[in-house]
Amino acid sequence: MASTELNEAIALARAGKNGEAQARLHALIQKEPGNIAAWLWAATTWPTTAEKIRVLEACQKRNPGSPQVDDALARLRAQLADDVTAAIYPPGPALDAAQAAAKGEIVMKQCPKCGGQLTVATNALSLRCPHCGATLTIL
Ligand SMILES: [Zn+2]
Repeated sequence: MASTELNEAIALARAGKNGEAQARLHALIQKEPGNIAAWLWAATTWPTTAEKIRVLEACQKRNPGSPQVDDALARLRAQLADDVTAAIYPPGPALDAAQAAAKGEIVMKQCPKCGGQLTVATNALSLRCPHCGATLTIL
């Protein structure tokens, strides 16, 4: 009863029990690698965008040409650009932006489109401006 298993896993994910939901979804995917809904829900149980992308890339390999998966991946990849700074500098007193800037690990830039202030990791290749949504390539 795959749909029951999936529904139970979704209920766990919605209840915030991501670990349990993840274990069930991954077991379901082992049995049914073509179950796109199970893959998409499995991706939501991972905390970071990079991990969600990793799950969906594995899904795409097994289910090439699924527009749902392609769409979800495209959205996550756009999101990843936004997450770059946050991922490298998680909030915390020891890792505040000013310190990182002093060490040359991030730079403050102005968005060329809207003039909004951006905090950019020096190893970032691109990001999306949180103010106007423009996608910027860092040179
Ligand atoms: Zn902007």
